[in-house]
Amino acid sequence: MLIPLAANVVKEMAAEYGVCLRPVGLRRTDLDTGKTEIIDVPCGATREDKCPPCAKRARRLRKVQIREGWHRTDEPAPAPEPAAEGQRALISLRANLEHARDEAVRASQWDQVGEVDDAIREVEEAIAAEGLRGSVAPAHDKPAEPKRQRSTKRRQDAPALPRQKVDPRTVGRVYTAPDGTEYRPSMWLTVTLDSYGPVRPDGSPVDPSTYDYRRAAWDAITFPRLLDRFWQNLRRCVGWNVQYAGCVEPQRRLAPHAHFAIRGTIPRAVLREVAAATYHQVWWPKVGEPSCRPLWNADAETWCDSATGLPLATWDEALDAIEDEPAHVIRFGTQIRAEGVNANDRNVDRTIGYITKYITKSAADCHQLTTDRQRDHLERFWRELRVTPCSERCANWLLYGIQPKKAHARLRPGNCKGRVHQRATLGIGGRRILVSRDWSGKTLADHRHDARAWVKALLGVSEGVDQVPVVGDHQPGTPASVAWELARPNDPDMPPMRHRLLRALAQRIQWRNALNAARDRAAQYEPTPVHLSATDDHGERG
Ligand SMILES: [Zn+2]
Ligand SMILES: [Zn+2]
Repeated sequence: MLIPLAANVVKEMAAEYGVCLRPVGLRRTDLDTGKTEIIDVPCGATREDKCPPCAKRARRLRKVQIREGWHRTDEPAPAPEPAAEGQRALISLRANLEHARDEAVRASQWDQVGEVDDAIREVEEAIAAEGLRGSVAPAHDKPAEPKRQRSTKRRQDAPALPRQKVDPRTVGRVYTAPDGTEYRPSMWLTVTLDSYGPVRPDGSPVDPSTYDYRRAAWDAITFPRLLDRFWQNLRRCVGWNVQYAGCVEPQRRLAPHAHFAIRGTIPRAVLREVAAATYHQVWWPKVGEPSCRPLWNADAETWCDSATGLPLATWDEALDAIEDEPAHVIRFGTQIRAEGVNANDRNVDRTIGYITKYITKSAADCHQLTTDRQRDHLERFWRELRVTPCSERCANWLLYGIQPKKAHARLRPGNCKGRVHQRATLGIGGRRILVSRDWSGKTLADHRHDARAWVKALLGVSEGVDQVPVVGDHQPGTPASVAWELARPNDPDMPPMRHRLLRALAQRIQWRNALNAARDRAAQYEPTPVHLSATDDHGERG
């Protein structure tokens, strides 16, 4: 039994060489010759539990992205370029995937929908890497737009802060030392939420019966809104277009907090003042205990209270009944940490490592829970998250005697599919990586493209060295000579997964050898390129 299983060794080696463990197969058809070929595209997962090599690669790219934007000395100004044939081919592939997704949805093949979504993400990144800006279509899991306030009485009050016109400048101030050396320092910032009750060092509450789980749940769900307000307020207060890149993750007590790299410096007192004055109000109906037992009345086509048989308040009625008080107000806690970091500091790498430490893990896996006390704490928090309304259309409203917006018979109170209710998210339902628009002037896909371009330049090749789909060479102006479509796992021309992994592994080993040789040659003539840590093929450094 000590002899390792061959299949496991293949997987381990694939992981070691950065080969995706669950690639998406795409069929490439040469329209001139009719020849078809299956090409594997990496799944592009960002979580280790889905695909460690892809998650590792994604984390590495995030680090490069944070590093490139942090101490920029010039304003990033991306310029759009006209669409080329290669880009058109990718767009048509994207369209095909959309069709495949639609088919899978109709057939209720949910596992396939997930796979197609992953493929769509990868293709969108490839589209961006080709130089097209923006996405072709909104992502399928995009959260609902924030609701517009109806009454002026219910608008967000302006915080008590100085307000200036925001200058488009995004780079920080330069400081000159007496000896003429110039410094352009930047910062990193940590913001946390308020206390919900005293906690032990392991994050569990001292007294679970008084720990405010309800406020903790509402805060976790609305945290992204608070961060948005913070950046908005900060920019208005300092009068320039402050840029940031950071990550939202749970603290030990399981409440979210956020670390940000900020370009330029802002006095700590100002950061504190802005954080203290920033809040977000949720203008939803107020809720108490989830005590209603709702029942769908098919004749009246409405949800009723099973105890009284009376119809529940509709969403509009509930909104109209809101007095002057919001259902929830979220604010930061008093713990704000801000430190200066110089461009050449040894701290830069360490801090970037710290900011990105947990991005490949799901929120609930960021901290190891080793005691029953910690596990019970998570359980109680999750129980609260499950019954907290996540949106205007959340089925959970029924538990509080209110019919959500566009209520229908299929709602399952206490079982809303919203991401914030899932145990793994700890209420952090949206994106955990937050990068402002003008951070590095590049999308993540651009950074990926940079890394590949560097490797390819070093190897002196232009195609065929990666798992990415390579768009056929053809003369500009002539119609595209290749077509792409999604290959299904049981298609006759689809090789078994283990064969595909072996093939990718062989390619990767060859590639790595070639890369090492090329690097040795290059090292004889020139200093090591700065992009070294950006390439797909390196191990994690530092
Ligand atoms: Zn993968
Ligand atoms: Zn919900």
